[in-house]
Amino acid sequence: VSHVALALVHHPVLNRAGEVVTAAITNIDLHDIPRSAYSYGVGAVYVVHPISAQRALAERIRSHWVGGAGEKRIPDRRGPLELLRVVSSLAEALADWNGRQAGELWTTSARATKNQQLDWVAARQRLRSSKRRILIAFGTSWGLGGAVHQLSNHALPAIQSPRPDGYNHLSVRAAVAIILDRLLSGSSAAPESGGA
Ligand code: SAM
Repeated sequence: VSHVALALVHHPVLNRAGEVVTAAITNIDLHDIPRSAYSYGVGAVYVVHPISAQRALAERIRSHWVGGAGEKRIPDRRGPLELLRVVSSLAEALADWNGRQAGELWTTSARATKNQQLDWVAARQRLRSSKRRILIAFGTSWGLGGAVHQLSNHALPAIQSPRPDGYNHLSVRAAVAIILDRLLSGSSAAPESGGA
């Protein structure tokens, strides 16, 4: 599934009050998400950040494990961290990923968004059969800003909670792993029914 990439978006994202903000990079995100992505054969993990000092931090983390001291210590971290591509905007990630082709942007959210929502079965099938490249965007802080949802071709369903209070606010690391498994696990046999 190297035609699929992930984007970890730090702007535009929302804060608790629903305002559009820029979130700081969480170091563990840059280790955990590439390891999940690499495990499922995803082609790239874009770190989207408009602040150059934050992009430099992401590049430093990457180069520590790709060609640096980290690689000497734990060589098998090179593969996952090599997936990291550090960019200043989601537009830059889309341009880099799609090149001249038209690609698709899929968005994720803990809050079920109605527009263009794919169900899990349709998403799995679309992902497997797609001839176009797909970029799946994940948010930080309190989630992707509206501008990202407006740009998207499809919204993935929220991972639902069986809890009466519906609490389903997963860490972005956990959400990436669950969604990759929902979309990519198992053989190419007909996928099981939609999933909770
Ligand atoms: N700093 C926080 C953390 O990682 O602990 C960031 C939270 S951020 C809002 C979580 C991101 O993971 C969301 O923007 C969304 O992309 C995804 N996510 C979280 N819970 C989800 C759910 N229930 N269903 C789908 N995606 C979810």
